Amino acid sequence: MSHIITGTNIYISNYNMFDSELDYGIRLSSFNWLNDQIEVFGEDVLPRTLLEKGFLFKNEQIHLVGPPGIWKPRIMQLPLSITTTSGGPYEDSDINSGFFEYRYQGQDRNNAYNTGLRRVMELGLPLIYFNSTIPGRYQTFFPVFIVHDEPNRLTFTAQVDQMDIIINPDRVEEKDETFWRRKYATVSAQVRLHQQKFRERVLFAYNNQCSLCRLRHPELLDAAHIIDDKEEKGDPIVPNGLSLCKIHHAAFDRYIIGITPNYEIKICGNSRRI
Ligand SMILES: [Zn+2]
Repeated sequence: MSHIITGTNIYISNYNMFDSELDYGIRLSSFNWLNDQIEVFGEDVLPRTLLEKGFLFKNEQIHLVGPPGIWKPRIMQLPLSITTTSGGPYEDSDINSGFFEYRYQGQDRNNAYNTGLRRVMELGLPLIYFNSTIPGRYQTFFPVFIVHDEPNRLTFTAQVDQMDIIINPDRVEEKDETFWRRKYATVSAQVRLHQQKFRERVLFAYNNQCSLCRLRHPELLDAAHIIDDKEEKGDPIVPNGLSLCKIHHAAFDRYIIGITPNYEIKICGNSRRI
């Protein structure tokens, strides 16, 4: 089975060729990136501009939302996110129950969007759900699974998982989880453990101070990666770490401040040696 539909950003090749490694890598990186953004913003409601821009995965920009509600980044074979806009043409049911209905894109159950989402259901892949409460801002839910397809009603049913399944691996055993859910939780737990060790070492190396403003409150300090840990050389080792307070870390991640190879910090044209 092969669809190539130009102009819709959907390309589904032979499913036997499905690249699960790539797909898995992008989904996991998306969840981790969203977790970071939620931490920085202090809430799970994120601006569309941020989600449109997305993040870099192996030199490829991964946009998390786009014009179609069922969204697939260019290098992926299957959709990564689904979006609804309050007051839009799609009426989706209340999410508080843990389940919600998601209307087909258009009326054709076999168009590339609906076929892609159906395949995500069959493979049990986790999605991100963005629900726009006010214009330009989206409440973020993940992982979300498509659990049911009702062609007669042109509707999918989706299930929202608890986010702490991602961040709290202890809870996984309580549930009858699929292979994918276990795998996400395990890798995520390893990443978090790694990050915790990295943080402790970097803060120790910097004497528990922000390297910019010298703030001495460890609870307000982060270990920032000088080279992003998603890049090849971005290893979680102390020489790649920088102790920064929450404000300076956010500024660093947004390129408001930067660091040169000579360990000079650049702030809006000013520089200062650390
Ligand atoms: Zn600071």
